[in-house]
Amino acid sequence: MTNNLIEVKNLKKYYQVQKGFVETLLARKIDFIKAVDKISFNIRKGEVFGLAGESGSGKTTTGRLILGLTEPTEGKIFFDNIDISSLSPSEMRSFRKKMQIIFQDPYASLNPRMKVGDSIGHSLLIHKICNEAEKRELVLDIMTKVGLTPSKILCEKYPHQLSGGQRQRAVIARALILQPELIVADEPIAMADVSVRATILKLMMDLKNEFNLTYLFITHDLATTKYICDRIAIMYLGKIFEMGTIYDVYSNPKHPYTIALLSAVPVPDPKARRKHLIPRGEIPSPINPPPGCRFHPRCPKVMDICSKKEPELIDTGNKHLVACHLK
Ligand code: SF4
Repeated sequence: MTNNLIEVKNLKKYYQVQKGFVETLLARKIDFIKAVDKISFNIRKGEVFGLAGESGSGKTTTGRLILGLTEPTEGKIFFDNIDISSLSPSEMRSFRKKMQIIFQDPYASLNPRMKVGDSIGHSLLIHKICNEAEKRELVLDIMTKVGLTPSKILCEKYPHQLSGGQRQRAVIARALILQPELIVADEPIAMADVSVRATILKLMMDLKNEFNLTYLFITHDLATTKYICDRIAIMYLGKIFEMGTIYDVYSNPKHPYTIALLSAVPVPDPKARRKHLIPRGEIPSPINPPPGCRFHPRCPKVMDICSKKEPELIDTGNKHLVACHLK
């Protein structure tokens, strides 16, 4: 037995590129967007695991695959040692209660025609956990726990009548009401005002302890992960480039891409002068990504071998994994 809540093995998600009729006839091969391309990692029970990278790196697709919202092309996902990637839709339904998501945009993820209390408690009825009267009690209770008070008044409001911070608390309450074990938080503070970001993060960490939660924290913001994650994986074009404890990755980044990303993280010292190592050029297309190391067209340390051979993700010590020929 392991201490893993989630184990992902050789996970792939390819999307076929849709083409017009003539284009399909003329094309010699089918193109795929390689959103996630053979990645493996584990999330231990009770930890906050960060998945970071620029837009298009595959981090959100990975979250959706774990939640069963998207079918994998290949690979396995284990939840508490049970292979959930091969479950039927009805078998998967019971696992859905154990895994919930907090979306990036709370406004878009709440039904504008539903009262906030009904949105929060809707999943209780879907999963036939309680009746309408019991639902109200559970909704008021979870609203109080996430600081959405006075709960009896706010549960009667519609999403547009709440502030941005209150809406974010509402989607957190909705994710927690089924008492899940895993929360996939997809850029949970990206849409929040700067003034409420710290409050929301603190709330999430308090709730983690109170409800014994495990988080998959998806973000492009490395400044945030530093303060809340236990371990982190850096993704680029569907691949994991570096993975390890927050301390190891931040104090001793080994992959040139991680080094570049970290150089752009602000430091709370007005006198500090740091060189921003912005990778050159644009992120290449995930359709036919560059051969060898996918970062080679942008890498400041590129060598001959880099365009020919893909580096493997290997342990450089203390489970600090890096995929680079330089390591
Ligand atoms: Fe740069 Fe080569 Fe390392 Fe890729 S393998 S990150 S191109 S040095």
